[in-house]
Amino acid sequence: MDKKGITTTIVHMDRQKAIEHNAVHKPIHIASQYAFKDVRDLIAVFGNTPGYAYSRQGTPTVSALEQKITALEDGVGSLCFASGMAAIAAVMLTLLKAGDHFIASHYIFGNTKSLFNTLGNLGIEMTVVDTTNIGEVKAAIKSNTRLLFTESIANPVTQVSDLKAMGDLCESKGILYFVDTTMATPYLLRGKDIKASLVMHSLSKALCGHANALGGSITDTGMFNWDNYPNILEIYKSYPVANRGLIQIKKKALRDMGASLSSDAASRIAIGLETFELRIQKMNENALKLAQYMQQSPLFSEVKYPGLDSHPQHELANQLFQQKGYGTLIAASLREDIDLVAFLNHLQVIILATHLGDNRTLCLPVAPTIYAEMSAEDRAVMGISDNLLRISVGIENVEDLIEDIEQAYQKTV
Ligand SMILES: *Cc1c(COP(=O)(O)O)cnc(C)c1O
Repeated sequence: MDKKGITTTIVHMDRQKAIEHNAVHKPIHIASQYAFKDVRDLIAVFGNTPGYAYSRQGTPTVSALEQKITALEDGVGSLCFASGMAAIAAVMLTLLKAGDHFIASHYIFGNTKSLFNTLGNLGIEMTVVDTTNIGEVKAAIKSNTRLLFTESIANPVTQVSDLKAMGDLCESKGILYFVDTTMATPYLLRGKDIKASLVMHSLSKALCGHANALGGSITDTGMFNWDNYPNILEIYKSYPVANRGLIQIKKKALRDMGASLSSDAASRIAIGLETFELRIQKMNENALKLAQYMQQSPLFSEVKYPGLDSHPQHELANQLFQQKGYGTLIAASLREDIDLVAFLNHLQVIILATHLGDNRTLCLPVAPTIYAEMSAEDRAVMGISDNLLRISVGIENVEDLIEDIEQAYQKTV
């Protein structure tokens, strides 16, 4: 594997593959079907031979993006889906079956938690644990535990789990370690470094970065031995061991469930990916500066950001992310005597929106929006107060973000 830096690898990748007319970008292939002169070639594509027959299982444009994500993770291979949620659902529905048990972190994206609750209706049992406490994770393991799911930096309250310890634990027990690293991104953490078996990214977030496409990906890091996994179907055992997990996800999820990424979205995500490292560096720098400002500002009763000394997992974040940064998400409670609605409505640069990882800084009151379906008690367990704001820090000039908060406060009081 070529060991150039992330940006060099990504911006030169298309050009180095066989590409039409020496174009520097992979073209957007719009065909939904592929025609063959010799029927034996058509038959071969339905077997183990790589190629395209019908774009529900992929297009050359989507494959070009998958190769870039694999390079970012230094993995064995990747699959793309229509959204991050489609990617998570694909893994859970194709690698688990009724009677299996999995362990999930308390601190996960609300829609993921909702999906996991739905799995209970299918006979797939879940135990939810505090993944910042490895003892709790260990204690939850049963004889039928097949999978452990966690996020890297949790959305929205920024807990950092003991990711390496969980990787070691899963390795020793033969449990599939499935990690959503949307928030850390490969800039701070590669799945391999924590022995993740499968890594998921919501491509809609910082990897695309421009809030102009939805997508999700699953990467096999090569760390898991599929030979030991009991749920690989007989037909996929004809594939090399390293490819068995991804091929089962591809056939059973992409082919049979059809949440496929379009070439158009794949192209936009791939172009966003070219500047990923530059954008994410700037966003990480901005987030630390903004969190430091917010912590000393009288407006906020509490500020959670893994880069602050006061964060419960600050030391762990230093070890895991090697001081490259601490992510782009800040969770802050607005002081209770400040009118939350008035304050938010006075923001001018910071946008009121639910997305993450965008070039623009976004702010969302968490309890009445993404956690509206959850009971007040459950929100309290997750550390979500009624006046909690989630801020996804963008690439703007950070002094303008600070000024925006100051002016909104002046207008509110
Ligand atoms: C947004 C998000 C998802 C879901 O991704 P979509 O592309 O919006 O479906 C999953 N996990 C995390 C951590 C996210 O932030």
